[in-house]
Amino acid sequence: MIPMVNLKAQYAEIKNEVERGLAETIEKCAFILGPNVQAFEKETAEYLGVKHAIGVASGTDALHLALIAEGIGAGDEVITTAFTFIATAEAIKYVGATPVFVDIDPRTFNISPEAIEKAITSKTRAVMPVHLFGQPAEMTEIVQICEQYSLKLIEDCCQSFGASINGKQTGALGHAAGFSFFPSKNLGAFGDGGLVVTNSDETAAKIRQLRNHGSDVRYYHDVIGYNSRLDEMQAVILRAKLKRIDQYNQARRHVAHLYSELMADLPLISPYEDDLGEHVYHQYTLLCDRRDAILKALQDKQIGCAIYYPVPLHQQNVFKEECAGLSLPVTESVSANCFSLPICPFLEDDKVREIVGVIRGVLTA
Ligand SMILES: *Cc1c(COP(=O)(O)O)cnc(C)c1O
Repeated sequence: MIPMVNLKAQYAEIKNEVERGLAETIEKCAFILGPNVQAFEKETAEYLGVKHAIGVASGTDALHLALIAEGIGAGDEVITTAFTFIATAEAIKYVGATPVFVDIDPRTFNISPEAIEKAITSKTRAVMPVHLFGQPAEMTEIVQICEQYSLKLIEDCCQSFGASINGKQTGALGHAAGFSFFPSKNLGAFGDGGLVVTNSDETAAKIRQLRNHGSDVRYYHDVIGYNSRLDEMQAVILRAKLKRIDQYNQARRHVAHLYSELMADLPLISPYEDDLGEHVYHQYTLLCDRRDAILKALQDKQIGCAIYYPVPLHQQNVFKEECAGLSLPVTESVSANCFSLPICPFLEDDKVREIVGVIRGVLTA
């Protein structure tokens, strides 16, 4: 049996450090916004090359609070991709804005800069690109468009911790960005967690207030806020993993490159990479018109495999009516042919060979 991600192998490596940190936290009973959250915020801001990092309760909350802090609300349009996890669009809906879904680049699966520019109207206030599967979106063009049209740029970095483009980390390129620490993400907690990053002092101050009941000073409340704090126990775990994140992402890249090399002669399309961006392979996602046969063969051998994402957002029940008549041909064709293989820092080369052997069996039969 080969799982999609092997979190047990990762835990074995950090067990002592994590257990020590958790025991200390329990001993001190400093559970909410304690020293580990503070230290983690400092360490991630440094790592990502941003002025502020604010721990929150989830990636979804990170995006939601970032939109509020950037002043996006009712009547505003936010241009984004339909080929993503639902939370990207949920955050936009939470603030009363309208997600405007545009098509993707067939190579990177990320939002197309040309499509963004075509979708701009007088109501457009923000662009929310997703660095999908750990692949940085085309940020040079997107930053330029946002500057030209005075739009807020809010990055969904929930799958891209550690990815960079032109030497800059994803999350450091827009007005604000949201990260997720869901357990299976590249930097994962042992539960939910998230982070907002920004270079703006004003945005950072608003997020700090919003995550803590609209309060800067205890029991004095300036706005209606939320209970959305990163948990102190999760911060202990995240600090241990943050120290090793480059090593983890390099190991993911090694697995991805081995897959691509071993499948180079097969009739499928492996993930695109160029030297502008450093892909951190949250997922290793391919295209093949014989996807169903491959998935069945992998399942028969108890090898993990998944479709991210089988239904693009504009075709989900929740958006069907709102998006009636919207056609996104590249998004639709990618979601009809994509599938993802197991990938994590602890997947051994011989397992990768075994998985490729199964796929080769299907495609050369
Ligand atoms: C995981 C994810 C989210 C939401 O993060 P949570 O921590 O699960 O709330 C948002 N956007 C994308 C692209 C994601 O993959």
